[in-house]
Amino acid sequence: MAECIFCGVAAGEVSAEKVYEDDAVVAFRDINPGAPTHVLLIPRKHVPSLNKLVAEDDEAVGHLVRVATQIAEQEHIAESGYRLVANCGSHAGQSVDHVHFHLLGGRAMGWPPG
Ligand code: AMP
Repeated sequence: MAECIFCGVAAGEVSAEKVYEDDAVVAFRDINPGAPTHVLLIPRKHVPSLNKLVAEDDEAVGHLVRVATQIAEQEHIAESGYRLVANCGSHAGQSVDHVHFHLLGGRAMGWPPG
């Protein structure tokens, strides 16, 4: 069993409602959604934070962003709009130490975020 919960999701050891997966990226619904659509996208590779990304991760992260746009289409939020955000560190409220992006949509959102 993976020590990291998101590595466990990627490996199929932790149950999650996956909406997409390939060799590099996994996307699944947030267990505690903050919007009508709330999908998390992760690289399969365990990287604990944005601060630890290295050049070899560029392709996977770029791919992840494109996958997010495709999921936005599938979820019918591409036209109304959505937010793709990654929390890094304690001030941002990062609670899982595996790089992840939140795809949020289906309602209007305020700015700046709290
Ligand atoms: P963050 O606070 O930016 O690190 O985001 C972590 C997110 O992971 C939170 O929105 C949690 O609700 C979500 N989360 C934690 N564990 C799971 C899980 N097992 N399946 C789906 N989402 C999860």
